[in-house]
Amino acid sequence: MATPRRKRRDSGPDDAGTARFTRTIEDFDCEHCGRFVRGNGYTNHCPHCLHSKHVDVNPGDRAASCGGLMEPVAAGIERDRYFVVQRCRECGKLLRNKVAPHDDRAVLRQYFGRPIPATPRSSR
Ligand SMILES: [Zn+2]
Ligand SMILES: [Zn+2]
Repeated sequence: MATPRRKRRDSGPDDAGTARFTRTIEDFDCEHCGRFVRGNGYTNHCPHCLHSKHVDVNPGDRAASCGGLMEPVAAGIERDRYFVVQRCRECGKLLRNKVAPHDDRAVLRQYFGRPIPATPRSSR
């Protein structure tokens, strides 16, 4: 007696590794706390201390040549999104940065309630 055998495909489609992203991924050593930061292409700030380097004129464009250390000076929430305001130690440039999901919330909280300096609106 031959029992009908249904063919089953238990092995899923091999979709691993096929997705390609062309974001700029930059790993760097944080100049403030010295920890290794694995870039994810969205943010360039350190998730441990929220410092970064002044490499952007507008967030993400990497158009600045300053390279100074950007230190967080304030944080806030806007439309359910956290942001941190950083000021460059070298040139005083202010940048507003989106907070990434893995950023240290305890560190972030330290900057809540501080006066938020007026950041120049990104020109479109
Ligand atoms: Zn750091
Ligand atoms: Zn700067």
